[in-house]
Amino acid sequence: MIIKDKTKLEEKCSPVSVKEGEEIGVRLLHELRESENGIGLAANQIGINKRVCVINVKEPLVLINPKIVEKSKEQFVFPEGCLSFPNDKVKTTRHESIVVEADNHDSRLSFNANSKDINDAFECVCVQHEIDHLDGITMFDREFKQEPIVNGINAPKKIGRNEKVTITKGTESKVLKYKKAEPMLEDGWTLSI
Ligand SMILES: [Zn+2]
Repeated sequence: MIIKDKTKLEEKCSPVSVKEGEEIGVRLLHELRESENGIGLAANQIGINKRVCVINVKEPLVLINPKIVEKSKEQFVFPEGCLSFPNDKVKTTRHESIVVEADNHDSRLSFNANSKDINDAFECVCVQHEIDHLDGITMFDREFKQEPIVNGINAPKKIGRNEKVTITKGTESKVLKYKKAEPMLEDGWTLSI
């Protein structure tokens, strides 16, 4: 059963031993496989307030007491969903790259959305989304905000040529520099910004 109560999901999770964390990880991966299109799940989403989450984009990954120890200044906008809010989609702002430490991994794990493979972007966003859950933060708290209203006119956002944007066409989506995305906008792609 996946928790859909936002108030419950706003509670912070407590640290856990690696042994207990591994058991929770097995349950989470099982729940994730049962879900429809889920790519990540945090323990508090199944009612266990412990710091364990799983990600399954390229391969199943369990993170016990994960911490983001480095994050890029560069951010990008990404359309996100959440198994706890199946009817919502939110455009969020996420770091382009992060480095994570977790008690069940000997070395640091790097995630970088700046890649030709769209799965790298999904994985990088998913790790940030799941670690947020453990801190009681949901995707709604990361929502991309439009530029402030100036003189009653919603000032258009000026996009830099090297700024990363997300473009979508049907169910496909890509993250790339605006200068590369611009010509594709004439080919049925739309900008997620
Ligand atoms: Zn979620």
